[in-house]
Amino acid sequence: MKIHHLNCGSFCALGHPVLNRLLPQLDQFNLVCHCLLIESQSGLILVDTGLGLKDISNQERYKSNFVFNHLARPKLDVEETAFMQIIKKGFNPKDVKHIIATHFDSDHIGGIADFPDAVVHVLKEEWEAAKKPITPKEKVRYSPIRWEANPYIETYRTQGDDWKGLGKVQTIKGISEPIHLVSLPGHTRGHAGVLIEGQSPVFFTGDSFLLESQLLDKPYPLPITAYNQLTHDNPKQAEETLKKIRLIHQQEPELAIISSHDRSLFLRSLAQEEKD
Ligand SMILES: [Zn+2]
Repeated sequence: MKIHHLNCGSFCALGHPVLNRLLPQLDQFNLVCHCLLIESQSGLILVDTGLGLKDISNQERYKSNFVFNHLARPKLDVEETAFMQIIKKGFNPKDVKHIIATHFDSDHIGGIADFPDAVVHVLKEEWEAAKKPITPKEKVRYSPIRWEANPYIETYRTQGDDWKGLGKVQTIKGISEPIHLVSLPGHTRGHAGVLIEGQSPVFFTGDSFLLESQLLDKPYPLPITAYNQLTHDNPKQAEETLKKIRLIHQQEPELAIISSHDRSLFLRSLAQEEKD
């Protein structure tokens, strides 16, 4: 099993020069859309797809989503799509047999239609929220155009909190490797992380936190608090989830915990991939 780290969508958050000045590190709001491509016995597996070919060729797809289009400001570069990067790495996109989705926000599943041979694995609560949004934020964030190609969706429920206080799906159908969905609710109703066990374990936590500094502790800088309020469906629940992730980080510092949009975490993962 080999993990490749892909940036499938660069974002340049509105006002990022100001935001960067408010925060100590530079370029923090030059965000990425970190996805994983896993070579496995079960075929190629994508963890999230990032933006897809249709997002680039038909940019109207984003115009309806004010928050995404005007605040996140995606670069929309075809070379950043998972489809193109997979070809560049010498693989065939048809060999992508599984997509494990952390959640159904457009920047995480925009590329589903590019991989018609893949089964999409997601927590049941997330699929239900995407199909039947209830809260005002759910009504804005989900975009059925992303799954109009009618992908095969496989849903899962977690039971209890059997993994470090979090619910874990033990077996993902069709995948023999030790890869698990872990319930991380708050950002969305059925938001999940993906735990990849093995020699160098990785815990991909999606949008549970934006910047690595949040793995330390509060207080957050104001832009982060604003981001949390704006994008988390349930900010309080998201904070509870992040507390658990923080605890795991303290107890298992060797476990690579990564999030979807932090550029420095992405670059470090890429450097590690090149070493492996
Ligand atoms: Zn996101």
